[in-house]
Amino acid sequence: MNWKDDPHPARLFDELPDGVVRCRLSPRNCRIRPGQHGFCMVRANQDGRLVTLNYGRSVHATEETIETEAVFHYAPGEPILSMGNIGCMLNCDYCHNWKTSQARFVSDDDVVTYTPDEVVDIAKRHGIRVLSWTYNDPVVWHEFVTETAALGREAGLVNLFKSAFFISPEAVEELLPVIDIFSISVKSMDPRYYRRLTKGWLEPVLDGARQVHRAGRHVEISTLMVTDLSDDEDTARAVARFVGEELDPGVPLHFVRFHPDYKMTDSRRTPLERLHHARRVALDMGVQHVYLGNVYDTEATTTTCHHCGHVQVTRYGLNARIVGVDGAGRCAGCGEPSGLTLLPPRPPRPSLAELPAGERLRTASFVWHGDVRSLHIQVRNDADAPRTLYQRRSGSDSEGTWTALALSPAESYRFIAAKATPGEQGVEVAVPDDVRCSLHEVFDRAHFPTVEVADGTLNDDVSPLPSYRSMAGRRPSPALQGEGTTP
Ligand code: SF4
Repeated sequence: MNWKDDPHPARLFDELPDGVVRCRLSPRNCRIRPGQHGFCMVRANQDGRLVTLNYGRSVHATEETIETEAVFHYAPGEPILSMGNIGCMLNCDYCHNWKTSQARFVSDDDVVTYTPDEVVDIAKRHGIRVLSWTYNDPVVWHEFVTETAALGREAGLVNLFKSAFFISPEAVEELLPVIDIFSISVKSMDPRYYRRLTKGWLEPVLDGARQVHRAGRHVEISTLMVTDLSDDEDTARAVARFVGEELDPGVPLHFVRFHPDYKMTDSRRTPLERLHHARRVALDMGVQHVYLGNVYDTEATTTTCHHCGHVQVTRYGLNARIVGVDGAGRCAGCGEPSGLTLLPPRPPRPSLAELPAGERLRTASFVWHGDVRSLHIQVRNDADAPRTLYQRRSGSDSEGTWTALALSPAESYRFIAAKATPGEQGVEVAVPDDVRCSLHEVFDRAHFPTVEVADGTLNDDVSPLPSYRSMAGRRPSPALQGEGTTP
């Protein structure tokens, strides 16, 4: 079945004359004629009713860490279950997730179907306590996100919403009862930048951030510093002013390094000195915690106490260690509240010094190189009995220790292995004969799609994703032709 062939009733729309509907999910308010779809390509008019085409349609659920989502002050180092979908209410020229955010590039091979119960069940089975609604953009997955997040909450899970947040106030109100953490990407403070590069507009994003902060939810703000476009001091000042004056100086701010992608492969990585300068500017303006993303071997990812400077959390890439906060969330240096939200300690995964004797296992290994410092490991248990896979790191503190991961019969699972120390060289995986395994390079923070290691990397410093230019000539499928009008 084609991924868009099972429409689901949508909420938040008005019925207009002549069978036209107006979608109220994002500020775009698309007016959609019968048989057509909105700008996001995943909400359509079917016989005068608004339907969502991507309900339950997802990229593969993936275990990552909360640092992947530019969330540093809520449960540092916590595993999350990342759920991405199809479509977006924006179309940024440099999108790092363009092959799923722009629905016309999505093929059925990229899509996995989940029910709300299945998502919660995966998290519970693997001891994951945070559901992360992420990647392309969860705004356009509204019905599935709100229903599943509510179910997850009933099961004791925390919900994280990582978004560009081009969303209507009405939709935000529906998220507030079920979402605990908002990680909001403010791409620039220049309205012209939004119009030109994202095809959206700025003010609703800022209004949404104000709205969730006013409601008392955990908020962190990130800005992708696009080379020569938004990596300047003025942008840093304007974002810092918004965070410090309109939200709170204690709200963490992340300046994130850009890599060339989508329609902007003729650009270059953000120069490191511009990122460090932006951080210094924001700190000097009084924002208490300013971090750099996609930057390694730096103090700019360490959390220190705002009062006494004591180191509270150290990080390397997507890994974190809480080193200076007590169980009540107080600084180990001065006893003041750290501002970090912590979850109760979680039991570690089983580990063993040697692989089990007598078990037939195949191994695969990967060496970190360039800025490819994370790997998605995808496994499928083809047996009708439980199986266990093992992974270990080479060149790390835990050299030689294998960590075990249990798989249910017929289960497909995907998880991240991210370089955890400067000296770590790579990762090794051992799987039983009846478990399929593939390794996928991840460049910078996690994204979809990824490229199988077997397909090779073009360049250590350029995204190993399929090139947009190679797919740009592809025509949208007939079901996706025709688009609603936007103001
Ligand atoms: S872009 Fe999509 S979500 Fe936004 S108003 Fe249009 S149809 Fe609705």
